[in-house]
Amino acid sequence: MPQARIGAFLGRGNAGAVVAGPMSRLVVKWTTDPVEVGAWLAAVTHAARGQPLPGIARVFDVHLGHREAAVVREEVTPATSARWRSLEDMDGIALRRAARLIGVGRLCRHGALVQAGLDLRDRALAQGAWGPMGVGLRALAAVTPAAPSDVRAGNVAWTEQGYTLFDPGRTPLETLVAGRGEAHKRCPNATALGRAVRDLLGKTPSYADCRVVGPRDLSAVMQAHGWSKDEIEGTAGFHTQDDSILVLQGEEWSVLHELVHAAGVIDVSLAPWLAEGLTEAVAQLAAAKNRWAHHTTYADEVAMIRDRLCPALGMSVQELGRLVASDPRGAAQAIAARLAQNQGSPVDSWLKVIRQDASTHHGLVTKLRSVRYNREKKGRAPRSTMPPRWPFLDKESDAHRPPVNPLKAPPTWSR
Ligand SMILES: [Zn+2]
Repeated sequence: MPQARIGAFLGRGNAGAVVAGPMSRLVVKWTTDPVEVGAWLAAVTHAARGQPLPGIARVFDVHLGHREAAVVREEVTPATSARWRSLEDMDGIALRRAARLIGVGRLCRHGALVQAGLDLRDRALAQGAWGPMGVGLRALAAVTPAAPSDVRAGNVAWTEQGYTLFDPGRTPLETLVAGRGEAHKRCPNATALGRAVRDLLGKTPSYADCRVVGPRDLSAVMQAHGWSKDEIEGTAGFHTQDDSILVLQGEEWSVLHELVHAAGVIDVSLAPWLAEGLTEAVAQLAAAKNRWAHHTTYADEVAMIRDRLCPALGMSVQELGRLVASDPRGAAQAIAARLAQNQGSPVDSWLKVIRQDASTHHGLVTKLRSVRYNREKKGRAPRSTMPPRWPFLDKESDAHRPPVNPLKAPPTWSR
């Protein structure tokens, strides 16, 4: 049989691929599975000492990269499914059961299950044509912390030594779950950040989980929640419907901002620009109080809250944050009522410029200017601003609640 061109693609595994090697009957296996890499390193060490592991494909070289490796091993032909079926004896069945026990045990971090699977596999591999593989796997288990779990037809060849394992890695399910575990790290310092938010707002951030994710995962989750691709662009954090906070890798600073949302500063009744500006203003306050470095965002929205809305309300950023967090659904009505009380003009006219469908802050700016102009024309001093008492209003009736965009699954938490 003519030798395949070096590098010719021969097949794909669940965590790598096989290409033709530099010499006849040699292949190069590229893998990202750390269990498989550990097994090959142990095997090549044994081979270098002149004691190749029985029942494991012969390995000649291992090149290590960053979280990946290229392994030069003998070329073998997988046992055909017909051949494997002819082995449907007690041993074959026991092997499949053992693989399931080991896989499930590892996924659930249940040591007793893993051990039961290993014992079962050892017993099955102690016999007949399986004997050499049993010896090889036991030798591997003695030197590598995570033994191969994927002993099945597609990974076993029939050679002159008997059955030979040529893919000593993890099962596809284990690979998938382990990969996700690596990609989704826990949010850094979320407990201390959450405590700071609670101290400021009087409410503990409520969320099920906080994870750092890659851009593709974040985009996929946000699209599933109804956001379009260009809305997703530039998003650093997201709060999902099942109450998880997802933070983009490299943008971990946004955890503090997301925790303020999680304490109730959300746009369920308020305009998104108002909710974002207030959220970020509270996050900046928490960072300043705790002397934490903070990457600021929503500069225009924050200025709007600090320099215009809060003075008009006669409230501090913290007080306004507490008002919203204590009753996010009634927040727009409560703020409008207080603006009417302090600045004049009917409640509904204020509500119109701050509620959820007020797409920009221009309405509020114009309105604040016009009430000031009218007041100055009449030579009236602004009414005194009493210290706020909140929640100071009954919840507004449903009829006043602005429509919610059905595409953005409620609650439309944070961006
Ligand atoms: Zn936000």
